Amino acid sequence: MNISRVSAPELLSLNKFNVDEEEAHIIVDKQICAKCSEKPCLYVCPAGLYKLDNTKKLSFDYAGCLECGTCRVMCKNKGIAKWRYPRGTFGISFRQG
Ligand code: SF4
Repeated sequence: MNISRVSAPELLSLNKFNVDEEEAHIIVDKQICAKCSEKPCLYVCPAGLYKLDNTKKLSFDYAGCLECGTCRVMCKNKGIAKWRYPRGTFGISFRQG
């Protein structure tokens, strides 16, 4: 038997996404986020979907979401205006083998 070690990025690259372009399953309130000094979402999202743009404003794209719910739990300022699982047939299909 041949067992090889696979890195987290390699495993994540196996996943398949069917992005719902019509209905975001996560919406952030950027007015609230602008006032948040800690921005835990920048550090806790395992997919790295929360970023700061050139002007230090929060940017977020739900495409690539792993549906873990961490951002929803960690945001203490109610900056996550909407969080729910994607509609049927949309979202991530995990394919770790
Ligand atoms: Fe990132 Fe998880 Fe939030 Fe999706 S649910 S945006 S993967 S922290």
